[in-house]
Order: sequence, then structure tokens, then C-alpha cells
Amino acid sequence: MRNNVITFLLGLLLTFPVHADWYREEAAIMGTAVSVELWSDKPAEGRALTQSVLDEMRRIDRLMSTWRADSEISRVNAQAASRPVTVSRELLTLIERALAYSVMTDGAFDITYASAGKHYDYRAGIKPDAGQLAEALPAIDYRHVSLDKHNATIRFLREGGRIDLGGIAKGYAVDRCIELLAGAGITHALVSAGGDTRVMGKRWQRPWQVGIRDPRKDGIVSMIPLEDAAISTSGDYERYFDQAGVRYHHILNPGTGDSAREVHSASIIGNHSIDTDALSTSVFVLGVEKGLALINRTADTEAIIIDNHGLMHYSDGLARVVKNNP
Ligand code: ADP
Ligand code: MG
Repeated sequence: MRNNVITFLLGLLLTFPVHADWYREEAAIMGTAVSVELWSDKPAEGRALTQSVLDEMRRIDRLMSTWRADSEISRVNAQAASRPVTVSRELLTLIERALAYSVMTDGAFDITYASAGKHYDYRAGIKPDAGQLAEALPAIDYRHVSLDKHNATIRFLREGGRIDLGGIAKGYAVDRCIELLAGAGITHALVSAGGDTRVMGKRWQRPWQVGIRDPRKDGIVSMIPLEDAAISTSGDYERYFDQAGVRYHHILNPGTGDSAREVHSASIIGNHSIDTDALSTSVFVLGVEKGLALINRTADTEAIIIDNHGLMHYSDGLARVVKNNP
């Protein structure tokens, strides 16, 4: 009997090494809240890895922030209208992915939205006037971004061209961090940057739970259980101002240069954050009907949309789950 108890306790010890614990870090990076949480049985390594995640986020921010005059992307924006600009393979590849999303969404996702986007200041309540918009609109077209993959250069085919990776860079960064953790042998972790979250494994033997916010009041409308998956939410409540009863926010319709207003939030679930990030922005712009059609023809991808009446809409795969578990 006693021996049995000892064997059982020894077994427990071996299953749960004494030092195993969760390690967490949070920081403000990329203009948003970044957080990482991971399970490790080596305290020094667990702590070091949370720092490596934050360092990787900072590295990508230095590369891709349009707020930094010395970032690669700022150099592109300053020079690519007059000559091809040499960029890192990493930036080139990400821009290539962004352009592929433009093709896939028929231009709803378009990094050249920035020609109009640069005239908005959400904190100060400033939007472009009619003249600024008229000048910006002809420059918004992803087909004006020309990549030379062989020489790793980028060129804008039109004056006034400008790009911003705000709709895809955070997702890319989250994927990079998850890969970093997986490469270090971590099997249970969560990395999130603002509205983009990806999880590995579980949390205390259960799926991770990621909340979808109510777009108009404090609180969560839905908790989504996730294992080895990514979720991104785009909402009109993150960066915005209201003027004469109209909401001006940071997701723009590339066709008009005005904020997209058919939905209040779009959440996408998939395997990689780079995809869920680009798709959440895209579906926000496309609206309920076209957005759901896009997601329903995209493999391993689901959507939850809250429209501008507060109604929830689900992609086909989720609608089946919701119907069976009301
Ligand atoms: P968040 O940045 O709050 O996580 P999103 O992932 O939806 O939200 O990204 C919004 C950002 O995407 C904007 O701040 C802007 O940088 C960029 N953006 C806005 N409109 C578009 C668009 N039509 N296509 C591509 N990127 C866009
Ligand atoms: Mg996005």
C-alpha cells in the first residue's frame, strides 16, 4: 500500500517537474499591448524566452513602423516613387504576401490605403478634406507597387504612393514569435499583439480562451476555445473619433478613403496570425455578405462578424457548431 502511494507520488513528480510554471510578460510595442505567456519547466529559460518574444516584436517594429523615420518602410515611402529601393528579404516577402491578399480580396485589403490614411489623426479628431481625398484616391492601388524579387527592390509606379503594413505586420510578428518559442521546445504558449493572438497547445489541460469584445460597451460577447490556432479581431472601437454622429476609425475602404462602416467588428480564426490579421481587416472592409463568402471559400478559416446593428454572423463551419450547441 505504502509503496503504491510512493510510486504514485513519484509518478506525479515526473509528470509535473517541480519547477514547471507559467511565465508571462507584457509591454507596449507596435502601438499596442503585446503579451506572451508560456509554460516551461526551466525558470531561467522560461523568463529568457518571454524577453526574446518582446525583443522580436521590437525588431519587427523597427523594420516596419511608419512612425519611425529610420525604419525600412519609411525609407521606401520617401524614395520608391522616384527609384527602386533595395529592401531586406523579410520586408519584401511580407509586402508580397500583402499584395497577394489584395488580389484575393479584390482590393479590399490594400497597403496603399496609406495615401489617404496619412491624413487621419484619430487622437486629434482630424480627417482628410475633400481636396486631400481627391488627391489621395488615384494613388490607392496595390497594382502600383512593383516588386523586383531578384534584386530585392520595390518601386511605386505612381507619384504620391505610400504603403503601411498596419493590417498585417502584427500578425506576422505573432507568427514569428510562436515559431521562436516552438523552436526552443515550448509546447504551450500564447502570444498576442493587440487584436492578433495565436496559441500553442493548451492552458492547464484545457483549450485557451480568447474573448471577442462587445464593440459598443464593456464586456465580452463570446469566448472562443482555441488550441494551436490563431484569432484576429478588427474593430471600429480601437482607434476612432465620432463627428456629427459618424464614426471615423482606422480601417479604410480603399475605394473611398473613408472608414468602412458595414460592420463593427470582424474576427477570423485560422492557423496563422499573418492570415487571420490580413483577413480580419479585409472582411471588415468587405462587409457581411462578401466577407462571409470569402471566408467560406478559404480552407481552415472561420469568421464571426458583428454588423452595424449589433447582430452576429458566422461562417459556415462555425454556424454548424453554434446550431448544434445553442
Ligand atoms: P488593429 O491594427 O487594431 O489590430 P487591424 O488588423 O484591422 O486592426 O488593422 C488596421 C490597420 O490596418 C490600420 O491601422 C491601418 O494601418 C491598416 N489598414 C487600414 N485599412 C486598410 C486596408 N483597407 N487594407 C490594408 N490595411 C489597412
Ligand atoms: Mg488585421
